[in-house]
Amino acid sequence: MEELKNKVFILGLDGGTWKILDPLLQKGLMPNLKKMVEEGTKGTLRSTVPPLTPPAWTSFQTGVNPGKHGIFDFLGFDPTKKKTYVVNSNSIPLKTIWDIASNSGKKVITVNVPLTYPPKREPNRITIGCMLSPKENVDIVWPKEIFEKYIKRSGYKILGAYSTGSLKDSAIEAIINEATEVERARIEVSRRLMADYPWDLFMLQIQSTDHVQHFFSHYLDPDSPDFGSHKYALVSKFYQELDEEVGKLVQSLDENVTVIIASDHGFHYFKKYVNINPLLRTQGFLEESESLEVNVIEKCIKFLRRNKILMWSAKIFLSTSIQLKILAAVNNVNAKDWFRAKVFMPRGGIFASIFINDKVCLQSIQKKLLNY
Ligand SMILES: [Zn+2]
Repeated sequence: MEELKNKVFILGLDGGTWKILDPLLQKGLMPNLKKMVEEGTKGTLRSTVPPLTPPAWTSFQTGVNPGKHGIFDFLGFDPTKKKTYVVNSNSIPLKTIWDIASNSGKKVITVNVPLTYPPKREPNRITIGCMLSPKENVDIVWPKEIFEKYIKRSGYKILGAYSTGSLKDSAIEAIINEATEVERARIEVSRRLMADYPWDLFMLQIQSTDHVQHFFSHYLDPDSPDFGSHKYALVSKFYQELDEEVGKLVQSLDENVTVIIASDHGFHYFKKYVNINPLLRTQGFLEESESLEVNVIEKCIKFLRRNKILMWSAKIFLSTSIQLKILAAVNNVNAKDWFRAKVFMPRGGIFASIFINDKVCLQSIQKKLLNY
């Protein structure tokens, strides 16, 4: 039997799916990933239910399903306080793989792993927080010196300022360039951390795969009618650049490092978006809000949606975490009414979270939604 290697490097590709990656490998656009697959092995894993970033990466870190760790979405809901909140590392009630390894004396470094913000202030750990962190500041890292040495002047960004309302080639190129630069800086910081500090377990999470696919999966997904258009070449440039940077990083690792590439969920281009609340309302489970506060906030959001430039500005100048906090604030106002409802879906609970206050009506809700 081959001797076990004693260091592990994990690369997280958010939303990475063979459905999109395989054609890129076949076209020779990701030669380094292809080589790793040929020299190692690959498989398709089942995601969590629901298949979203926070529950899936939390299952990855804890080894249990969302029913046991309690993270189902970007927003959680506290039924006693009747409030929604943005999930973070404090929302995980269990030991993570990082806790177990570092408590056993192993040196652990994580860069951008979802739900590692706020960082655990423990020895044997170096953490750079994730996309659910606030803007880049000293609070997203542990130990504090990491911010000054690696983040402050390095061009490191938690997220790119992605925004799109246009599918012109120039708009696509701008997003792809931004995503490439964000991940190049992240990989460079990881490379420096690897060189400067001892480590046994290192995880680097690439988030822009998910963002690029949210914008452009209809060009990348072989099931989509838009697959294979000239825009495939524009979008696949991101994967080419990523492969080149990852390839350089992996080649620089010692022989004694085991490399694992992992993803959190698959991807499919959008055909339809279903807003569950109006459906629940027509079925008599959710009453329309009478609150003045709710109406004012909803009118503001509708106004922003009609004015694309303002909406883009909000997206550009506000981090995802701030956007989610605004959403949580809106939800909290709504929740005053929702808590009186038998069942509701917090707006912004992206695709999955229907909250049921009345257990008795669970079966009738299931029946009505399935028959809709
Ligand atoms: Zn994800």
